[in-house]
Parts: sequence; structure tokens; C-alpha cells
Amino acid sequence: MKAIIVEKFGGPEVLRLKEVPEPKARSGQVLVALKAIGVNPVDTYIRAGTYARKPELPWTPGTDAAGIVEAAGAGAPFKTGDRVYLYGALGGVYAEKAAAEAARVFPLPKALSFEQGAAIGVPYATAHRALFHRGGARQGETVLIHGASGGVGVAAVQLALSAGLSVIGTAGGEEGVAFLNSIGVARALDHRKPGCMDEVLELTGGEGPQLVIEMLANVNLAEDLRVAARGGRVVVVGSRGTATIDPRLTMTKDLAVLGMSLWNMTEAELKSTHADLAQGFSSGALKPLIGAKFPLAEAAKAHSAVLAPGARGKIVLLP
Ligand code: NAP
Repeated sequence: MKAIIVEKFGGPEVLRLKEVPEPKARSGQVLVALKAIGVNPVDTYIRAGTYARKPELPWTPGTDAAGIVEAAGAGAPFKTGDRVYLYGALGGVYAEKAAAEAARVFPLPKALSFEQGAAIGVPYATAHRALFHRGGARQGETVLIHGASGGVGVAAVQLALSAGLSVIGTAGGEEGVAFLNSIGVARALDHRKPGCMDEVLELTGGEGPQLVIEMLANVNLAEDLRVAARGGRVVVVGSRGTATIDPRLTMTKDLAVLGMSLWNMTEAELKSTHADLAQGFSSGALKPLIGAKFPLAEAAKAHSAVLAPGARGKIVLLP
């Protein structure tokens, strides 16, 4: 089968399509013929060799994918022909096939395409964990989703709206604001515009949001602390550098700054999160949006695209 192989860390050009042996489903595992693969920013950090977690080389990137079960090992609760999505495989999912532990394989809800299935594992589970497990989001609260137009942001918008929160979202440019309006965010702001955070205060009558889900903390953390409501929580989901903040704001307003990493999820949390998400997909409250599609051979182009501003919807690879 064909798979993307990385033999040295570096730029997108190190992603090479090669012929490799097919994986096998051993006891408790599932072999899936992949139909769509999700591209996440973290795939690019690991490929570049700049991420905390460095895999052994040669390495095949990728965590999110969807496809059809080709074989199920003993004890794995799936059968040939089942439509499934994966969160993590034994050897990476930028490939035509992947083998995964059964606990990392989930039935693909009927309402979703394979491409939508490839947009669940990292973005939706991250948004869910940030909002509810770390952020303690409650019905009736106002949440600022700072970076609402990306993979995690769109998932956070849908989850927050369906849980009865009032959402303020940000995106880049007028086109980004229009995109947020189109997905149900009436109070959408342009994070490239100076004064954007003063508008957050105006929209909340000067009180500020009770919860902030932050996608670019190195740029925004200081301002998040300035506008957050008394007793508010700021959940750091993404950061690409360091930040200077005024810690006194956390004292005067009893603020909590909470880090969050999807990789810290326990197996029990993983199971309950995906069960919760399944309900949202079935009811139609959650609907992954697909953006650019690239053939697997063009994974390098997908890696450049996922870091460029203005992506609308999940970038997927098609094997
Ligand atoms: P993505 O699809 O590339 O989206 C990036 C988002 O950041 C877009 O909404 C973008 O908006 C927004 N953005 C750009 N400039 C911004 C600014 N100045 N202020 C606020 N937002 C800004 O990425 P993603 O998959 O949603 O992931 C978002 C971040 O979370 C990434 O850094 C990723 O590495 C991280 N992440 C962390 C975890 C974890 O476990 N902690 C898990 C998944 C992802 P425009 O393009 O409209 O400008």
C-alpha cells in the first residue's frame, strides 16, 4: 500500500509517498481501508521536529481518519464493512490503510461522510475537553471563542451553541466574520482589527465573557485576562510562542488560566467524550465542515495550507 513517510524532520517537502507493507489487525485491533484523512496543525509541528513529542523515524503522520473496516482481530467489536472513524492508529494515518486498537475506533454516524469523519478525532474532542472538562462551561454563560473559524473553533461554536451558551467568536477579516455568521455566530468579530477586544467588552455590557477558549495564547492571553469577567476561566488550547501578561489581573478578578492538552485525556474520558459527540452528530447539532481536499500524494501542500490564515473548514487528504 502507499503511505506518507518522513525520514528526516523538516519542511513540508520531507513528506514523501512510498510503497510500504500493509498493516495487520492483531487481537483487539481493527484494520481500516481509509477513505479520508484529517490534517491537523500538530502534524506539521511533529514533522518539523519542533514538538515536545518526537516520534522515531521513519514515521507516518496523522491521527484522524475515516474509512471501512477490512478486518477485525479477535475481541474487537467491529466487522468487515463497518463505517468507522479513527482517533490514532498504530502507525499513523497518512496512508491507504491503518490498523488501530479497537478503543480508538468509533462507528461513523450515518449522517456523516467519510470526510466529515476525518474531522472529528482531534478538533471535536479538543473543543469538547476545552469547553466542558477544563472550562466547566455552563448553560447561559457567555463564551469567547478566540479563533472560532478553524477546525477546533468551528467544533467549539457548535458544541457551545448546542449546550445553550451565548457565543462571541473571532475570525480573520470581513470574510472570516461572514463565515462565522453563516455558522450561527451572530456576535462575530475580526481578530485582525485593533480594538476587537474592546468590542467584546461592549457586547457583554462591560462585564466580559465568563469563559474564553483561546487558540493563539501567545498573541492574546494578556487581552483575554483584561476582558474576562470576574471569576472567569481562560482555557489555553493553542499557543505558538511566549506571552507577557499582567498576573495582577488574575488576582483582582479571581481568574483561572487553564492549560489543556488532548493527549492528557484518560481512556474513560475518551470514551465518554466520543459517546457525547455521537449524540450531537446524530441530532444534527454537530456538523463537521470540510474545506480544501488534497490527494494523499500532495500531503506537503496540505501542510502548508493548514498553517495559512483563512482556512474555512477541515483540510482533508484523499488516499
Ligand atoms: P486551524 O484550523 O488552523 O485554525 C486556526 C485558528 O486560529 C483559525 O480560527 C484562525 O483564524 C485563528 N487565528 C489566527 N490568528 C488569530 C489571532 N490573532 N487570534 C485568535 N485566533 C487567531 O487550527 P485548529 O485545528 O483549529 O487548532 C487551533 C490551535 O489549537 C492550533 O494552534 C493547534 O495546534 C491547537 N490545538 C491544540 C490542541 C491541544 O490539545 N491543546 C488540540 C488541537 C489543536 P483565521 O484563519 O480566520 O484568521
